[in-house]
Amino acid sequence: MDRGFLFGDGVYEVIPVYAGKVFRLNEHLARLQNSLDSIQISNPYSTEKWQSILTQLLEQAPESDQSIYLQITRGADTARKHRFSELTPTVFIELNPLVPKTKSELETGYHAIIQPDFRWERCDIKATSLLANIMYAQQAKQHQVEEVILHRDQSITEGATSNVFVIRNNTLFTHPTGKHILSGITRDLVIESACHCALNIQESIITIDEVFNADEVWISSSTREVMPITMIDSKQINNGKIGRHWSNVYDHYQALKNA
Ligand code: PLP
Repeated sequence: MDRGFLFGDGVYEVIPVYAGKVFRLNEHLARLQNSLDSIQISNPYSTEKWQSILTQLLEQAPESDQSIYLQITRGADTARKHRFSELTPTVFIELNPLVPKTKSELETGYHAIIQPDFRWERCDIKATSLLANIMYAQQAKQHQVEEVILHRDQSITEGATSNVFVIRNNTLFTHPTGKHILSGITRDLVIESACHCALNIQESIITIDEVFNADEVWISSSTREVMPITMIDSKQINNGKIGRHWSNVYDHYQALKNA
């Protein structure tokens, strides 16, 4: 009778661990809190308790890099009804080996397709109900591409499992945070790295045309880091060449990871 199973009534986080150190834990815990608050689930643990649970789990893990998958559901009820009262949340945590792609692997470039964003109006909640994302993932598999880039009324929102960046004339454009995208922890790090690499930052609407005429297109997520996209809907971006800005931002991101 767990509402996570019955209704997808829960939220989750994916947190990378590099060399045994949880990367940007506070930021992930803050986003988790936002997701929980949005759907009125009480956080079962304090920040200190989360830290100690994760430390204990990681002590049992091999040395290699890990990704922590953490899910909290509203808990098990006695009757299958949509309305809820206070329940004891269910917590599930899983560690998986994390093997980020090397720079030379990334330099081969990745392909994507663009599709209408038919998700709901609360994409800022990292919800476990992921039907739309599963449908996009299967489309990506069938088209043999890395990601499905989404648009609402011709404006790019984000990827099905990533944030999207367009670089043109030394400016990085990305959709503003809000209810139409998940505010990626990696997104913030990419913006920080891009600032460091002297790119101008513009959090604004990007049109589909601007994507096709971009100098560079990237996607980002905690497990993919920052990845160059060189072909979208069978059209090459910048003649299929990897951009120099991506290379600089990738290097700075690696420095942040290893700091
Ligand atoms: N947007 C969506 C829809 C996602 O599912 C994800 C990650 O899974 C992201 C953005 C990137 O978020 P983060 O960088 O925190 O992994």
